[in-house]
Amino acid sequence: MADSWEVVIGMEVHAQPRTRSKMFCGCAVAPLNSPPNTHVCEVCLGLPGVLPVINKAAVEACLKTALALNCEIPLHTKFDRKNYMYPDLPKGYQISQYDLPMSVNGHLEIEGRKVRIRRVHLEEDTGKLIHAGDKLHKAWESFVDLNRAGVPLMEIVSEPDIHSADEARDYAVALRTLLRTIGASEAEMEKGQLRAEPNISVRRTGAKELGVKTELKNINSFRALHRAIEYEVKRQTGVLESGGSVKQETRGWSEAEQRTFSQRSKELAEDYRYFPEPDLPPLQLDRKWIEELQRSLPELPEARRARLVAQYALPQADAVLLAADRQLADLFEAAVAKGAPAKATANWIIGGAFGAGDVTGVPGRAREAGERREDQPRPGPRGPRRSIEQRQSAARDRERAWFCARERQRHTRNDRAGGHLGQPASRVRLPGRQEAGSGGADGGPEEEGSPGEPEAGQRAAAEAIGLWITHFWRQTRGMRRGERPFWRQTCGIEAGADP
Ligand SMILES: [Zn+2]
Repeated sequence: MADSWEVVIGMEVHAQPRTRSKMFCGCAVAPLNSPPNTHVCEVCLGLPGVLPVINKAAVEACLKTALALNCEIPLHTKFDRKNYMYPDLPKGYQISQYDLPMSVNGHLEIEGRKVRIRRVHLEEDTGKLIHAGDKLHKAWESFVDLNRAGVPLMEIVSEPDIHSADEARDYAVALRTLLRTIGASEAEMEKGQLRAEPNISVRRTGAKELGVKTELKNINSFRALHRAIEYEVKRQTGVLESGGSVKQETRGWSEAEQRTFSQRSKELAEDYRYFPEPDLPPLQLDRKWIEELQRSLPELPEARRARLVAQYALPQADAVLLAADRQLADLFEAAVAKGAPAKATANWIIGGAFGAGDVTGVPGRAREAGERREDQPRPGPRGPRRSIEQRQSAARDRERAWFCARERQRHTRNDRAGGHLGQPASRVRLPGRQEAGSGGADGGPEEEGSPGEPEAGQRAAAEAIGLWITHFWRQTRGMRRGERPFWRQTCGIEAGADP
């Protein structure tokens, strides 16, 4: 029986810290579409006789992440060589951290539940192999692009405290929100800046011993993470129930076939022959610097979510969505500080940014895009070819729409007694506009933000905000994270962490 099994998952997440240059050389971190091998030098090409130099910005981002994850920071840390041969790793080793990582023993709290963090450490990325013909075993030739070789990576390793695909996805989402809030990483999955690698095992409920685990590699969307874990749990329980045993191995996820597949038997730490990196000095961190970094952290998403609920009487669902994006939450608070009604403002912002409804005069494009793409088969090779920017923008839209829909659904279930959750944003009445979809009203108590006749002052504020949001929506569509949106100046909001 499937319910007599317990699922145990630990997560390794690789996040690219927000730096201009690579981990150990002065090469710029290449934008995604750069021509291959244009951002390389002697150091990241692994030529003999060169010396690496540690990137302080990467160390700072890693320490901030560790502090935000409640980790202990040992003052003494060092880098190690992890030895293996692969064509995308020209040095024949990766500089990583082994027994003295930058931080240990933290935790991430997700809606009251704690996932312990074992360590957060720094390392460098490898290059990228491109196989003509798409698959390695069918390729007639292969190419290597070393633009990514030496790009800094933080590895965030959790304890096996996660017990379902849902929890794993929530953890990854919470981690991304945290990284963006503190400005440590842009954490865009579609750009490879955030990659999740879950370790999954199952055991009989009540058993003390952990089952044999498999590791899924380089999953780069929340949806794929969820589906891959669900598939892998089903596969492992199937193997065990039929009397077989699970093999410890590394597996990949095939999006096309919606299944995991064996890649290689799992290596042990001994296989890598770790030893201290002789070309880098051990780091002795300054306690004052760490205290300074701790003080520089902004309000973290969990705390902000709770405060938005307490201070503005916002429903959980709205607070979660706003707190998930520091810029949106800043915009919300600035607008309310200028006299706008809280609930209506939240609805407008969420509607505009997440495409949850037609509140800004712009239809819920993100939502439509998400639903359409989800329902229809992917265009075949003969379909119109979309540019990488278009695909990224569509992926962002899909992700936002999914996130919004999920949060609303979840919190509507949880908080229905409150009466005003799950109200689509389009129910807010805009001055001078007919309410759309009012036939679907469930007769719940009147919402704070949707009065029948807004008072004159409220109406003026609403109009002003409506204008802001419309502009905001137009300006930020397709805008890259980290770029300075015009409304920051309009609202006089200054965020500290963005470089
Ligand atoms: Zn370089």
